[in-house]
Amino acid sequence: MAYFINEDCINCGSCEDICPNGAISSGDDQYEIDAEQCTDCGSCCDVCPVDAIHPK
Ligand code: SF4
Ligand code: SF4
Repeated sequence: MAYFINEDCINCGSCEDICPNGAISSGDDQYEIDAEQCTDCGSCCDVCPVDAIHPK
């Protein structure tokens, strides 16, 4: 399992800074999580202002 960013993302960048594994990066339209690097810590969910990150 890995976390997933849905279409509600407003590209604030907060999640990228908090991820301990560098799994989050800015994609073409919104931020994305690399499932191979995500360890399901949940930290990104806590900082997202629009609740766009959820377990897949
Ligand atoms: S759940 Fe943790 S490891 Fe996975 S993307 Fe979010 S902050 Fe990174
Ligand atoms: S914290 Fe939420 S709104 Fe901000 S870039 Fe990450 S997913 Fe998008």
